[in-house]
Amino acid sequence: MASNGTDRPFKTTRTLKTTGPGDETDLRVRLRLASTLQSSLDLHTILDLFFVEAAAVVPCDGLAYEHGALGIEHEVGRQSVHTCSYRIINQQDALGTLRFARSQRFNEREMALLESLLALLVFPVTNALRYRSAVAAALVDPLTGAGNQASLDEALRREMDRARRYDQCLALAMIDLDHFKRINDGCGHVRGDQVLCAMVDAVHEGIRGSDTVFRYGGEEFVVLLSNTNAALAMRISERLRSRIEALELRHGSRLVTTTVSIGAAMLRPEDTITRFLNRADEALYRAKSNGRNIVHLAATADHVGESV
Ligand code: GH3
Ligand code: MG
Ligand code: MG
Repeated sequence: MASNGTDRPFKTTRTLKTTGPGDETDLRVRLRLASTLQSSLDLHTILDLFFVEAAAVVPCDGLAYEHGALGIEHEVGRQSVHTCSYRIINQQDALGTLRFARSQRFNEREMALLESLLALLVFPVTNALRYRSAVAAALVDPLTGAGNQASLDEALRREMDRARRYDQCLALAMIDLDHFKRINDGCGHVRGDQVLCAMVDAVHEGIRGSDTVFRYGGEEFVVLLSNTNAALAMRISERLRSRIEALELRHGSRLVTTTVSIGAAMLRPEDTITRFLNRADEALYRAKSNGRNIVHLAATADHVGESV
């Protein structure tokens, strides 16, 4: 039953399981929608395309998609007072919730039409979510969950650009475990792996949400600290060093502890990615040769940005 925008908000939530396309919509519309949805693997593009096609069949003001577990939200058009939501499930996999909205109520026939169109969205969304997780996995070190070298390159390019464009400081901390070989030799490689993971967790806990950690090599990690001046970079690096020093991992009746040396550098105007990394690496070398378990900051003259 259609009604105007002053109606009490009508909200319904249904669960849509993969049952194959219904027969409510014109075959030509369904064929066009099916081929349109195959044109992309990007979830946001697929949802935008779906909205255009669905709104041509059942007038809607907006569409909102949410996948709580994956932290994905996407909105198209305008949100409005009357809504009709669908939890989408493909076999056992929850694919998220879609909410259609408009200023008039949806009637049963319109909802049946939307459901028959939604059935065509299930596989494209499944594929887009798989593609998304494959792309994410390709950028992550599988052992520690830190970013890998490919994502470090991308992040450095992006952060160096941003620092220069907004004249903000950018700091890079290179972290290397001290005498890590001894842990492997004394406790075994598996325990060594656990130490690496515990160390990365401690780093994550000691940095801001906007900072990122990457695995640069075997037991060497890089933390990118955006909009961070030299004094703050030193404070954060020192905090990481002491958090890692305080870690205790049990190995039988023994406690395994570890320390790290950290070399930090500030971005300079003339830096390339390689030069920036090299200066942090040299600072790390100084930290190692000065006795380990310390932070060494490379000379900071003429760095980019003055603000914190
Ligand atoms: P330094 O204080 O000079 O850095 O000494 P170190 O022993 O940490 O450095 P070295 O370069 O001699 O040894 C690094 C060790 O890290 C050797 C290598 O087997 C170990 N390693 C590298 N990647 C991994 C890994 O993924 N897991 C484990 N368990 N060990 C690793
Ligand atoms: Mg080492
Ligand atoms: Mg090393």
